[in-house]
Amino acid sequence: MGFSTIAIHAGNEPDPSTGSVSVPIYQTSTYAQEGLGKHKGYEYARTQNPTRTALETNIAALEGAKFGFAYASGMSAIDASLKLVKSGDHVVLGNNTYGGTFRLFDRILSDYGIEFDLVDTTDVNNVEQAIRENTKMVFVETPTNPVMSLTDLEAVSSLAHAHGAIVVCDNTFMSPYLQQPLALGVDVVVHSTTKYLNGHSDSVGGFAATNDEQIAEWLGFVQNSIGAILSPFDSFMVLRGTKTLAVRMDRHNENGQAVAGFLAEHPKVSKVYYPGLVSHPQHELAKRQQRGFGGMVSFETGSLDSAKAVLENVRLFTLAESLGGVESLISHPASMTHASVPFETRQKLGITDGLVRVSVGIEDLEDLINDLDQALSR
Ligand SMILES: *Cc1c(COP(=O)(O)O)cnc(C)c1O
Repeated sequence: MGFSTIAIHAGNEPDPSTGSVSVPIYQTSTYAQEGLGKHKGYEYARTQNPTRTALETNIAALEGAKFGFAYASGMSAIDASLKLVKSGDHVVLGNNTYGGTFRLFDRILSDYGIEFDLVDTTDVNNVEQAIRENTKMVFVETPTNPVMSLTDLEAVSSLAHAHGAIVVCDNTFMSPYLQQPLALGVDVVVHSTTKYLNGHSDSVGGFAATNDEQIAEWLGFVQNSIGAILSPFDSFMVLRGTKTLAVRMDRHNENGQAVAGFLAEHPKVSKVYYPGLVSHPQHELAKRQQRGFGGMVSFETGSLDSAKAVLENVRLFTLAESLGGVESLISHPASMTHASVPFETRQKLGITDGLVRVSVGIEDLEDLINDLDQALSR
């Protein structure tokens, strides 16, 4: 079956008790048992909830995974995946991951004896050099935020596996419609469903999916033991969101490509970061590994003042963190999402004071381009 059919039907069975076509919000904490040890597969709502089960079935199917788990946030999904490593283990971590992921390693996991090295994973040789005797995991994000660097998932996976390590990929920026890491050899794919999967900027959630039975067993155990579960209401919201994932992503692709093209030609813009442009150093890899290039575009305006002028003069684009919703957002990575990254590291990564990031929504393209054009000409 095709992606859109799976998106609409997987997990979305009519409700067995009423026939309700949309999966109900099962707002309950517990379930009546018919007798001792006799129940319908649901005992307590931290462990299982039918709305959450429907969503888990749905997104797992979209990622081509046998198993999926929904968490309270992207960070709790990432945290659950990191419970696959233990004290004394070493992790190779992409040097440009989501700030919260870096913070989790730097401020929390390091106190629990988990060693890590920040590595530029755009070159698989760097990953190879960083692998140690005790390396148990390679954690990557591709494309990265905000400079859209790619990691070759197939190459990194075969390398990691040869050294007995597993690979976790944060697929938030692409969504399963544009990139399916498990098919490329990755062991665990994680998401912030807050972004494209929910797609409407009105829910916070996370997801982890895998085809490995042992990994799945542990992820489920962690989900139940720690309890960072997605609520029935948010499960309903995300389930509603994924039904339109394919059509939304097609429009994000179209608008993203056109906005990137417009910016690349604009005299006030010196550089555009978008994997769909032939000028992107990893354009060929993007074509091979992704089904499209997405809606995230970053561009260099040259200075903090120029960036400020754009951010303060846009009318349609909303100044806000986050991404992946139907509405277009604009942000300033250096002072917003990456403010906690030291200045030198920011420079090295290309996160200058003049860099602006847009999450291109699914509005009419002409309106988006007109808005950026008038803001850039101030
Ligand atoms: C937002 C985001 C996260 C964190 O997700 P939350 O839902 O905010 O906890 C992780 N990774 C990436 C790439 C993100 O964009």
